[in-house]
Amino acid sequence: MDKNIQFQNYGARGNWVANEWVPAKEGKTISIISPYFDKEIATVPDSSATDLDAIVDRAQVAFPGWAATNIRDRAQIMFRFKTIMENDIENLAELIALDNGKTVADAKGSIQRGIDVIEYATTIPEVLKEESSQVSAGITCTMTHEPLGVVAGITPFNFPVMVPLWMIPLAITAGNCFILKPSEQTPLAGLQIAEYLKEAGLPTGVFSVVNGSREAVEGICDHIDIRAVAFVGSSKVAKIVYTRSTAVGKRALCLGGAKNHIIIVPDADENSTAKGLLASSMGSAGQRCMAASVAIGVADIDPIIDQMITETKAFQLGADMGTIVNKQALDRITIYINEAVKMGAKLLVDGRNITPPAEYQDGYWLGPTILDGVDPDWPCAKEEIFGPVLSIIRADTIETALKIENNNQYGNAAAVFTTSSQVAQTIAENASAGMIGVNIGVPVPREPYSFGGWNESKYGHGDITGRSGVEFWTNLKKVTARWPESTDTWKKYF
Ligand code: NAD
Repeated sequence: MDKNIQFQNYGARGNWVANEWVPAKEGKTISIISPYFDKEIATVPDSSATDLDAIVDRAQVAFPGWAATNIRDRAQIMFRFKTIMENDIENLAELIALDNGKTVADAKGSIQRGIDVIEYATTIPEVLKEESSQVSAGITCTMTHEPLGVVAGITPFNFPVMVPLWMIPLAITAGNCFILKPSEQTPLAGLQIAEYLKEAGLPTGVFSVVNGSREAVEGICDHIDIRAVAFVGSSKVAKIVYTRSTAVGKRALCLGGAKNHIIIVPDADENSTAKGLLASSMGSAGQRCMAASVAIGVADIDPIIDQMITETKAFQLGADMGTIVNKQALDRITIYINEAVKMGAKLLVDGRNITPPAEYQDGYWLGPTILDGVDPDWPCAKEEIFGPVLSIIRADTIETALKIENNNQYGNAAAVFTTSSQVAQTIAENASAGMIGVNIGVPVPREPYSFGGWNESKYGHGDITGRSGVEFWTNLKKVTARWPESTDTWKKYF
C-alpha cells in the first residue's frame, strides 16, 4: 500500500511577488479540491491582467542585476536548490498526491525527474560557454548566449512540479526573470518551488508566481514586456497560446496533447512486454502525455494480452494507481469507455464502478480499462482520453501498424516491443513521433537529451529541455572584431 494521504486545508494562498506571498488585487479566488477527498484544500487567487502587470514590473526591475550576475554564481543557486528539494522530497510528494491524486511513490518519481533538470542547469556555464574563432585573417568572431528578459511558463495539472522544472532552472540560470502560471487545478506543490528558490538565495523578483486561469494566461500572451512563453497542456490551448503570443512578437514553445501508440509483434518478450504496456497505459492513472493509449497488436499477440489482463486484475487502487484529477475528467473518460462498448469494442478489463479504497471513499476513482477489437477510426482510438484506458487495435502487418500510428494527429511518443533489431529499427525510423521507445513504454529522454514531440503535440520550434531548452531562453550575440596594428609604445618590448 502507498503511504497514507492526510487531509489538510492550506487556506488562502497568494501570488509570489518580490519573494513574498501577496493576495490578488481584486480578491477573486479559485477553490482547490483534493481528488482523494472531494473536499477543498486551499484557495488561490484568480489573478487579473492588473495583478500580472504588477508582477512583470517587479521582474523587470530585477532583470538587469540578475543578467549581470556571473553565470557561475547563478549556477551555484541551482546546486543549493537541488539539495533543498532533495531534502524535502517526502513532504512535497505528499502535497502533490493530496492536490493531484497521484500516489506518493509516483509523485516522488516525478519530482526526481524534475530534479534531473536542475542538475542539468548546474552545467549551463559549460553548455553556454562562449565560442570564438578566427574567421578571417586577423578577424575573430565570438558568440555568446544572452538572456531574453522577463519570461513566463504556463503548466498543466498532471505534473505540478516536474513540468515547471522543465522550464524554471534553465530559464533563470540562463539569466532571465521567470513568471510561473501553475495549473489552477493543482497549484499547491508548484508554489513550494518559490520557497525553495528563496532559501537557495535567489534574488527578489527573479522568480514569481501568478495564480489564475484563462485571464492570467491571456495576460501573459498579450504582455509585450514578457519576451518568451513556454506552455505545456492540451493541444487546443497550446495552439491558442502559440498563436496569441507570437502575434505580439513573443517567442513561444507550446507542448500539447498526445495519443501514443505501442506496436507489439509476436516475438516480443511476454513478461516484460505485458508489464511495460501496463505501466505505460495505467501509470499515473493514464494522465500523462507519455502514456500508451493505443496498443497495435501485429498478428497473434494474445499470450501477451492474456498476461496483461492477469496482472491488471492484481492492480490495487491507491497503491499502484491514484485517482482521476476531477469529477469532470472522470465523467469524460467514462463516456469514452461507454461509447467504445456501444460501438462494439470488447471490454477485456472494466475499470468502471470499482470499489474505492476504504480511506478514500469520496475520491474520483477509475480502475484500469482495456478495450479490444477497436477500430482505428473510433474516438477512443483517435482522441486523447487522458485516463487509464488502453485501446487494442489488431493489424496484420507492421506496415499497417505504422500506417495507423502515422495517421494520428499527435506525435509525442511511440514504442515497439520486439526482440528483433530489424523490427525495432523499422518502427524507430518510420513512426511519426519525437520520442521513440524500444522495449520501453514511457520513452522519456533523460538529460542531456531533450523532451519534445512532433505534429500537433507541439507548436513552435525546438524541445523544452536539454540544450534545446536552454537555447529557447536565450538570444545569440556574435561579435566580429579586427584589431588594427597598434602604434602603442609598448610594442618596443616585444
Ligand atoms: P490544459 O490545456 O487544460 O491547461 C494547461 C494550462 O492552460 C493551465 O495552466 C490552464 O490554466 C491554462 N488554460 C486552460 N484553458 C485555457 C484557455 N481556454 N485559455 C487560456 N488558458 C487556458 O491542460 P491540462 O488539462 O491541465 O493538462 C492535460 C493536458 O496537458 C493533456 O492534453 C496532456 O497531454 C498535456 N500535457 C502535455 C505534455 C507534453 O509534454 N506534451 C506534458 C504534460 C501534459
